[in-house]
This record gives sequence, structure tokens and C-alpha cells, in this order.
Amino acid sequence: MDPRFRLDGRRVLITGASSGFGRHFADVLSAAGAEVVLAARRRERLADAVRALTERGATAKAVALDVTDPASVQEAFAAAGPIDVLINNAGISRPGSTHTMDEADWQAVIDTNLTGAWRCAKTAISAWLERSAPGVIVNIASIVGLRVARELGAYAASKAAVVHLTRSLALDYGRLGIRTNAICPGYFATELTEDYLASPAGQKQMQRVPLGRQGRLEELDGALLLLASEMSSYMNGSIIAVDGGHLCSGL
Ligand code: NDP
Repeated sequence: MDPRFRLDGRRVLITGASSGFGRHFADVLSAAGAEVVLAARRRERLADAVRALTERGATAKAVALDVTDPASVQEAFAAAGPIDVLINNAGISRPGSTHTMDEADWQAVIDTNLTGAWRCAKTAISAWLERSAPGVIVNIASIVGLRVARELGAYAASKAAVVHLTRSLALDYGRLGIRTNAICPGYFATELTEDYLASPAGQKQMQRVPLGRQGRLEELDGALLLLASEMSSYMNGSIIAVDGGHLCSGL
């Protein structure tokens, strides 16, 4: 492997690391040499993950984090210690039509997916600027942030905002040595999506993907390692779709 993909000596904080993508990203990034900090609300899940990683020889620790709570974000970053890379991955979805959706559900999605990502980016950037250190942010957005899907208004709006936040941070902080890029995954089976993907509607949706199927978690590894490492040293504000061509599905 090209050594520029390696993350030896780098500390990476992954939000939403108690399940799904985040848990998988911890494996991938630690296998590339990173020290990983797993952050989320479900502490038992994090403790199990850290145990498994440590048994494999990785350097890993868990920090409790609720991205919707400013104090929790401050405490989690302090407990993590200085980081080099932030993977902004925590996210939720509350599907439903706009006219029937509770305002609380709308707010929860925006607070977690958008404001949470912004809050973690702000905390990481402030620390990097204080230390005059370079930094890397990888935001996990979604193809639904680039095109719409039915009954996902809150989620789609939050992810479209994450895509634009990515570009905005790239513009504001690139000169200061802080790069921000985003991955827009298509559909992958996790706790967030497994019920939908198993449903007739989900199965039908997968037939519209040019590759004819949902993604496998390991198919995110290339984009993740590229954007987290020096291999992407001239990438800033880039939005990479990993979706089997779903964004190209025919009209
Ligand atoms: P999961 O539900 O498995 O993971 C979501 C993670 O986010 C969990 O670890 C959860 O941990 C964490 N989380 C949720 N709310 C908070 C919060 N307030 N504070 C801290 N952590 C929080 O789903 P995925 O792995 O699929 O989702 C990961 C990201 O990928 C999300 O941003 C999602 O929108 C995005 N995505 C997923 C796709 C898919 O097909 N699966 C497609 C496109 C994007 P805990 O509950 O312990 O706090």
C-alpha cells in the first residue's frame, strides 16, 4: 500500500462509533495505523468495541458524546486529547411527510446531523488553530443530500446542509492547513436502514441502483482512507459519492 494512505501517529476521533459505519470506520482507520477515539452515547457499545480493537493490538479509547449537547462535545474532545482527524459521522433519521412530522422530530434531525457536525467541526478547528496544527475533517453526508428521496425532508435537508458546510469550511480554513471533505454514501445496511432495505420498497429502490444492489460496509473504505490520509493532500471541499451509481439512476 502507498504509505501516504497510512495514519500512523495520527489520532482520529469518530463520532457515532457505537454502531454501523462509525464502528466499521474504527476498524479500518486503526488497521491503517491510527489511534482511534470512539465517540457516541451508548457507552457499553463503545466499551465492547474498544475491547475488541485493543485485543487486536489497536490503540483505541472510548469517550461519551452527545453531539446535540455543547457541554458533552467539549468534555468529549477534552477527554480525547489532541486529535489530527475528525470523522463527523453521528446521524439519525426521522422519515415522514412534512405535514405530519412533529417539530421535535425535525429539530432532532437538524440538531444531530447538521448542528452536531458543525459543533464538532468548530471544536476541532478551534483546537487546531490554537496549536497552529493542521487538521482533517471528513463529513459523512448522504446521496440524499444531493438528490431527494420521498418522505425524507428533514434528513435530506440536513445532509444537503452538511454538503454545503463541507464546502464552506474548505473555503474558510484551507489556507490555515485544515482540509474538509465529505463522503455521500448510498444505501448500506446498518441499524439506520436495515428495516427499510428489507422492506418491499427498499428492495425495489435497490433495483434502481446501476450496480443492482446495496453497498457493503467495506466498500466505503477507499473513500474513507483517501480523505482521512495525506493521499488526499490536494483535496478540499470535495464531495465523494459511494453509491453504486445510484445518483445516476435513470429518470
Ligand atoms: P447507525 O444508526 O448504525 O449509526 C448512527 C450512529 O450515530 C450511532 O453510533 C449513534 O450512536 C450515533 N449518534 C446518533 N445520535 C447521536 C448523538 N446525538 N450524539 C452522538 N452520537 C449519536 O447508522 P449508520 O452507521 O448508517 O449512520 C452513520 C452515518 O452515515 C449517519 O450520519 C448517516 O446519516 C450516514 N449515512 C448512512 C447511510 C446508510 O445507508 N446506512 C447512507 C448515507 C449516510 P449512539 O446512539 O450510541 O449515540
